[in-house]
Amino acid sequence: MIKVCPACSSTWAGGIVCEDCGATLRDPYAHDARTLPGGIWRYIRLQYGARRGMIVRVVGILLGPVTAALCLRAAAGSDRPWSIVLALAALPLGFFTWYVLHVGAGRAVKIWVLRRGQLNRKKLARALARKVTRGVPQ
Ligand SMILES: [Zn+2]
Repeated sequence: MIKVCPACSSTWAGGIVCEDCGATLRDPYAHDARTLPGGIWRYIRLQYGARRGMIVRVVGILLGPVTAALCLRAAAGSDRPWSIVLALAALPLGFFTWYVLHVGAGRAVKIWVLRRGQLNRKKLARALARKVTRGVPQ
């Protein structure tokens, strides 16, 4: 069960008191969860997205050797020219499988998780332009 700290937005896997700031932890799915600060939900989504990326990377670590082993197994059952080709391709295929999942998970987290909470560049440019034009003495 996930618990959140309403004071510092830390998330914990259970417990009663926040170990960071000492505030009482609350269940974000309880009936009175609407009283939690609005920014806490963005933080929880960010953490779940990052964890999803880590899970995909672990799947990549597990699937890389499995791909290499399956390729070696296919090589053992093949005739002479293909058995050598498959045996030589087993290691690069295992690394390729791991690499695709590793890099893909990192990019997915950057695109779908981290960019959501970022500042809109157009709004930032307008705010900076407003600040500059107001700050100039006339
Ligand atoms: Zn706290």
